[in-house]
Amino acid sequence: MLFEQIKDKIENNQRVGEKDAIALFESHDLLQIGELAAEVNRRKNSDRVFFNVNRHINYTNLCVNQCIFCAFSKEEGEEGGYTLALEQVCEKAIEAVAAGATEIHSVGGLHPTLPFEFYLDMIRAIKEVSPSLHVKAFTAVEIDYFSRISGLTVGEVIDALKKLVWDRCREGEQRFWEKRSGTRSVRKNLRRALA
Ligand code: SF4
Repeated sequence: MLFEQIKDKIENNQRVGEKDAIALFESHDLLQIGELAAEVNRRKNSDRVFFNVNRHINYTNLCVNQCIFCAFSKEEGEEGGYTLALEQVCEKAIEAVAAGATEIHSVGGLHPTLPFEFYLDMIRAIKEVSPSLHVKAFTAVEIDYFSRISGLTVGEVIDALKKLVWDRCREGEQRFWEKRSGTRSVRKNLRRALA
């Protein structure tokens, strides 16, 4: 009942009071609260602030790194290990677009045998599903791995991906990688390639 009153207030552009705020805080109805918050946000900010509708496609969980904290990765041959074929990646992208996604977020383990061309083909295939899809793909660890398996420099790997209208790798990862690498040439390459 109180929730309905709060909803009325918000819909009528009235300010919520302390009692209302406590009721919202204690409510478990996150979907309704989210809808109300989105409505107020749209009213105040129009489309400047928005929710990104994306779909995660984790193309493989096989990883040569086997980081001690990782609950995602599997070794080759281990039960539960998988690698998606390009067709499966496309199917997921098609499903995502049909469900209203505007972005594909794709990361995976460091696969023991896939060549760098697979990753280029994957981005190309996703873009072919819908050229307007924003593709956010690969962590800095993956970029570094692609450089090692392809024999290309990090900058060349990024250039190759950018040519496919790859939009960006995760920004936090870029900063982490840049800081961690500590070398001026790598920083310079990254800046130039991402400019
Ligand atoms: S590199 Fe990533 S996927 Fe691989 S083991 Fe480490 S955290 Fe897991």
